Amino acid sequence: MDGLEVVVVGAGVGGLALAQGLVANGVRVRVYERDPGPRQRDQGYRIHLDATGGRALAEVLPAEVRGRVVETACHPGDLLAGFDSGLTPLFEQTFPVTDPDAVNAVDRFAFRRALMTGLDDVVHFGHEFVDYTEMGDGRVEVRFADGRTTTADVLVGADGVGSRVRARLLPDFEVVDIGIRCVYGKVPLTDAVRARVPDAFLRGFCFASDGSGRGAAFAPVLFREPPAEYGDYLMVVFTGTPEALGHSDDELFALDRDALWQVVVAGTEGWHPSIRELVAAADTASAFPITLRSCTRIDPWRTGRVTLLGDAIHPMTPAAGAGANTALHDAALLTAALCGGGRLVEALARYEQEMIGHAKEVVADSLRRAARLFGTTPPVPAAAADRSTDAP
Ligand SMILES: Cc1cc2nc3c(=O)[nH]c(=O)nc-3n(C[C@H](O)[C@H](O)[C@H](O)COP(=O)(O)OP(=O)(O)OC[C@H]3O[C@@H](n4cnc5c(N)ncnc54)[C@H](O)[C@@H]3O)c2cc1C
Repeated sequence: MDGLEVVVVGAGVGGLALAQGLVANGVRVRVYERDPGPRQRDQGYRIHLDATGGRALAEVLPAEVRGRVVETACHPGDLLAGFDSGLTPLFEQTFPVTDPDAVNAVDRFAFRRALMTGLDDVVHFGHEFVDYTEMGDGRVEVRFADGRTTTADVLVGADGVGSRVRARLLPDFEVVDIGIRCVYGKVPLTDAVRARVPDAFLRGFCFASDGSGRGAAFAPVLFREPPAEYGDYLMVVFTGTPEALGHSDDELFALDRDALWQVVVAGTEGWHPSIRELVAAADTASAFPITLRSCTRIDPWRTGRVTLLGDAIHPMTPAAGAGANTALHDAALLTAALCGGGRLVEALARYEQEMIGHAKEVVADSLRRAARLFGTTPPVPAAAADRSTDAP
């Protein structure tokens, strides 16, 4: 597809991986991101990467960029374990790591920065997408909040769970609240904390639950090469329904960061002293709340010159640790489709078919895991749902 010009909305995990793949294949691509710069946002701290994500990165990233991802990744963990709130082990799975370059977890900010290697002229921050028009000449006009416009042969919406590109392309697409709230935070791994933290928490992803609907996950970020801004830390995620957390959404989402962390301190009262000490040692400025959301179905649409990838088309709960991995998988599929020759719309149709087939299975798995982990009832598609029971 000689001379193909692609515009990507969203410089997240999927949009940046796609841009790397397209640039490596000589495709002209521009990425437009609404954030003013590549600073971290409240979107989580540690991302688990699995074999699917790893294969996709190997496919799309040039050696130099892949090298930056490996250097800035976490030392790989080898444990998945569950405990009760008194730290009695309930289950344990180990994953021996033999490859010194293995990457199975990254810090989101360090990862984003590594994925931007070499893309200085490609990624344009401070551009909030608002709308597009498919023009008669086969081009797509893209419009931004400040009135600027641009055109391209293909527009890719990689703009995350609240995607405006999707809202325009698939206005009936449904994203539901699965009823669980999370409070995220970080515990800096100072010498004092390292001396007291349970060994397992430094080896991998550990989840403790008190049997009353409240749970807390702990996962280490032990850098190979830390960013200049901060060092090793333990990610903490406290979960529960609004009832289990003792706060309505209106209350929870209005709390300042210190008060928000007090919800975690209060919710882990009576838990094992090591857990309470960790919670007390958190950097409360790192606390933020999120609502867990998921799509319930992904139906094919009539292929045009606008397509979607990542959370924009398959938002899912983090219960399977698969959202970013699936976005990377999409990026590799779309790179192959756009760079493989043949007619553009046929290539996009092939991409959409494969992407949807894969994503449907991952979303279903993530809903099943969320039901097991949080005791939620898997949501049913809108057509069959009793709307009166939908959360706001
Ligand atoms: C707390 C948490 C923990 C998670 N842990 C994991 C994990 O361990 N493993 C895993 O695989 N997944 C995990 N996920 C899921 C993962 O973060 C997402 O699936 C992944 O980031 C999706 O990538 P994406 O590129 O589709 O979207 P994003 O990474 O969300 O990127 C979307 C980008 O689009 C930009 N944007 C949005 N709207 C506009 C607009 N109008 N104009 C311009 N730009 C716009 C956003 O600013 C953002 O930069 C987690 C998610 C959360 C919330």
